[in-house]
Amino acid sequence: MKRVLVAGGAGFIGSHLIDLLITHGYEVVCMDNLVTGSLSNLDRVKNNSGFQFVKQDVCEKIVFKGELDFILNLASPASPIDYAALAIETLKVGSLGTLNLLELAKEKKALFLLASTSEVYGDPKVTPQKESYWGNVNPIGPRSMYDEAKRFAEALTVNYHKVHGVPVRIARIFNTYGPRMRPNDGRVVPNFISQALKGEPLTVYGDGSQTRSFCYVSDLVEGLYKLMLSDAEGPVNLGNPQELKITDFAKEINKLFGRKEDNLIYKPLPEDDPMQRKPDIGRAKNLLGWEPGVGLEEGLSRAIEYFKHSS
Ligand code: UDP
Repeated sequence: MKRVLVAGGAGFIGSHLIDLLITHGYEVVCMDNLVTGSLSNLDRVKNNSGFQFVKQDVCEKIVFKGELDFILNLASPASPIDYAALAIETLKVGSLGTLNLLELAKEKKALFLLASTSEVYGDPKVTPQKESYWGNVNPIGPRSMYDEAKRFAEALTVNYHKVHGVPVRIARIFNTYGPRMRPNDGRVVPNFISQALKGEPLTVYGDGSQTRSFCYVSDLVEGLYKLMLSDAEGPVNLGNPQELKITDFAKEINKLFGRKEDNLIYKPLPEDDPMQRKPDIGRAKNLLGWEPGVGLEEGLSRAIEYFKHSS
């Protein structure tokens, strides 16, 4: 039986990935300091004999006795509100945390997978974004603690492969949504759904012409799992290429709630908010045979069901 360490496994994406790994018969070690993650995300797997939880900040020295075949690094705050509030922690987990986990991968001869982000493209000047695009990132802006930490983490990862021969994979994850997002994490999906549930207007930032592409979490973790088992060299975008303006996204949510489409309230656009984001998923299709299958209406309905019971 293969053993996988998932750092950040009590978080939104990490916990869904653990569910999938347990279903496929892997032993799973979940490592998390519970800063933004939650033990309740692990309810499904906590009594499984192949599962163990270790409360650990991966920025501190990691000692793990026993073999590991895969180390998946999903440890980081990921919502703009969280990473602004946890600026130094975010910089540390992307740098020191990634370094410690790469050292562990070297010691255990394990494959290392980095959960990177579409934020490495910053406010992109090309669309759709291909992995070959270097990005347009403000190194001192309000998103820099996250963007630059992830860019550094990518650099560390490719150089551990070059210098030490550690097998590595890099996923660049685009906007993802679904159950287990915290209703108050500040991101657009939990905000809009929580507001609609309370009968409030949806808060559109700026004029809402900025775009995002939303991937349902079960699709995303399937992509991560395929990447882990693949021999894909270099970063691979994982996301849903269906691009929407934020106003149209808000209208879609209002429609699903049977409300007036334009039950919206406009608020200032946060500084450095990227104007567009749409993944080119050609590499994921070719190298992993992966593409998302859950449509927006279906995914949002599932997310709404979850938020109804958690907010
Ligand atoms: N946004 C919005 N209203 C909200 C929360 C977010 O209009 O209540 C916008 C935000 O300005 C951004 C997009 O929705 O353009 C996605 O924001 P999110 O924080 O979910 O993720 P990002 O892609 O910016 O990291």
